[in-house]
Order: sequence, then structure tokens, then C-alpha cells
Amino acid sequence: MFRNMKMTWKVFLVTGGALCLVLTGYFVDNTHAKDNLPRGRTASAIVDGNYPASYYPNTELLGADEMRITALGTGMPNQTRAAVSISYLVELGNGDKFLFDMGSGSLANLFSLRPDFSKLDKVFASHLHIDHVGDFMGLHIAGWLSGRYSPIHIYGPTGSKPELGTKAFVEGMSKGYAWDLQTRSGALPDLGAKIEVHEFNYKQENEIVYQHNGVTIRSWPAIHSLDGSVSFGLEWNGLKYVFGGDTYPNKWYTEYAKDADVASHECFLPPKALAEYFGWDLTQATYVSTRIHTEPSAFGKVMAEVKPRMAIGYHSVQSPENNAAIMDGVRSTYAGPLALARDLMVINVTKDTMVTRMAIVDEYVLPPDVTQAYKDAPRTDPKNPSEHILAGKWKGYTPPPMPKK
Ligand SMILES: [Zn+2]
Ligand SMILES: [Zn+2]
Repeated sequence: MFRNMKMTWKVFLVTGGALCLVLTGYFVDNTHAKDNLPRGRTASAIVDGNYPASYYPNTELLGADEMRITALGTGMPNQTRAAVSISYLVELGNGDKFLFDMGSGSLANLFSLRPDFSKLDKVFASHLHIDHVGDFMGLHIAGWLSGRYSPIHIYGPTGSKPELGTKAFVEGMSKGYAWDLQTRSGALPDLGAKIEVHEFNYKQENEIVYQHNGVTIRSWPAIHSLDGSVSFGLEWNGLKYVFGGDTYPNKWYTEYAKDADVASHECFLPPKALAEYFGWDLTQATYVSTRIHTEPSAFGKVMAEVKPRMAIGYHSVQSPENNAAIMDGVRSTYAGPLALARDLMVINVTKDTMVTRMAIVDEYVLPPDVTQAYKDAPRTDPKNPSEHILAGKWKGYTPPPMPKK
């Protein structure tokens, strides 16, 4: 940390106008000293906007005015190793972290970043398709195993009926996971078992669903399969990130995403590519691609209207053929800044810079270290099998003695 401060002072001496940079760097170090970094990692500040060509997780301090957006999943429900289902992680210079969707498969990409799981306690669900919430219970339990000692919060829409809303989804999943949750309660921190559901009206238009610590998140409706898909806009410190839920091009997105720095929105396979991908006839593929979702030329039209500093398209599998079809479609209607997101693409955003890179991660990454607060958090009422089952222990094995506490 001291070395970083010295470097920023040098910048100050060379260029008098960089006083803000100096102070920013100083506060960044203080903010992120609180992050629980894995052993062996020392994070450094980015000096003068010189980002490494690739992002190595936990090696960079996020600037106090900076936002980092990581695409954890950009694919389809029938995921591949390179493209799991939808999820985005947004990290802010104030230390806050937010997950938008937690589609099936995205948890492994989240773990590959070795994040501080005590801070990953907020998921904003765009809708309740499995490719958007399939790993929510996985995150609930794996995050609880890996450092979270507080409740996990899910913010999600109502449905057209109570049984189709986020609250019903979580209650149903919790019942389904009852055996799992029982086995871990008592062994893991008590509060980590809790799920707090914040259900909001899917019809609300650019109204607040979350406001805390200078961060405001609003939602508006999307048009997708049934009522109950939404998009989110996150505003903090003069920066705006928009996360689009699955949708047909809709008037709310083109209005409320307008001043976004980064606007993400689905960019589905065009009909012909979708027909080949699923083995569907062209009629069905055209219906799904252009009535339930947003095909590439429509995505381009939306972005030409919104005019974000960076447009992000996702929700496909970018084989070379698909990538060409998607790019042709988008570029037929939109000439602005564009990133077709792949899993583990990272965007760093400040008011002046926009840097898009890929993260470099290990396939066999170990979980991050947990904090002392996690170790000290109360655990009560551990569970055991019944006497009947314990009586079945095989006499041919004696376990080693338990270590003294
Ligand atoms: Zn969907
Ligand atoms: Zn989807």
C-alpha cells in the first residue's frame, strides 16, 4: 500500500492537475484494505489508467470512483463450458457488490474470481427462468460455506399470480432444499442460513427497489413469455449500469436506459441460427427469436436509440458461425461502441475511461479465505443422524481421535 501511495505522489509532482488522482488513490487503498483477499495476493492500484491487458482477480484495487462489471454467464439454458447461463457481477469503488441474475452454471465462474463471499449477499433477479436464477440456491449454500455469515438478499419481481413471484420461488426452493439446509445449520454460521426476499411489483416503472450507501437500483418491466420479467438500472456516483432482463424490445428500456454508461441487453440468436442451434423449424425459431427475445438487428436498433457509452449484448453461444450472424445483425442497425459479452469479460468504468478485458482464472481454483468474523459467528444446534443410524457404524474402522480445541 505504501509503495502505491509513493507512486501516486510521483504522478502528482509530474502533473500538477492530478491532485484528485492522488487523493483518489489514497482513499481506494483505505477502502479496500477491508476486502478479504486470498492468501498470496496483494492488490495494487491502477496508475494513470494503465490497465494490464488481462484482468487477474484480486490483483487490482478498484478506484474510489470506478465500477467493475464482470460477465459471469452470457449463454443459454443449455450451457457450454465457455458460456454458462446469465449472471453479472457489479463491484463499486465504495466496496459494494451486486449480482444481477444467478443463472445455472454461473456460480463456478463467480468462484473462479475468489471473491470475498461475506460481501456477496445481494442478488437482483430479472425473472425466474432457470437460466437466470438456477444457481441462486447454489450461491446461498456455497457462499455460506465460503465466508458469508449474514443473510442473503434476493430482490425479484412479483408475477401475475402470487405463486409465480420471487417470494414463491424462494419458499419453494427452500422447501426443496430442506434436507440440505438442515444438515448445514449448526455447522455453519446461523445467520447465513437466512434468505431475505424483497419482492417488488413487476409493473413498476423506473421505481426504486434498492437504495443504500449512495447506490440506487430501479426496475422497469420487460416483455418475455409471461408477465414478471424486468430490467434494472444501477446508479452510483454519476455512473449508470443497466441490466436488461429477457425481453422483446420494449419502450421502458429505450426510455430508462438512455443515460447509461454501460447498457447490457439480450442479443439473441437470429432466427436462422436459432433454428439450426435447436433443430427447430424456421417458424418456431422466428417466433422465439423475434417475439419472445430480441434478435441482433433489433438489439442494434435498441442501442441506436439508447446510445450508451458501451452496449453489451449477451444470451447466445458464440460459435464462429453464431458470432458472425450476431455481428452482422447488430451492425446492420447500430454503429456505436459494442461488446458481445463472453463469460468472464470484465469492463472497468469511470467517467473518463472504459476498459474491456478478459479475466484470467484457474480451472481448479481454491475457495477464498474466510474472515475471523466468519469463524467467530455463532453456530447453534448442530445436527446428527439418529441413534438407529449411528448404531450401524462398521466396527472394522476406528476414526482418529478428535483434535483438542
Ligand atoms: Zn427468460
Ligand atoms: Zn434467458
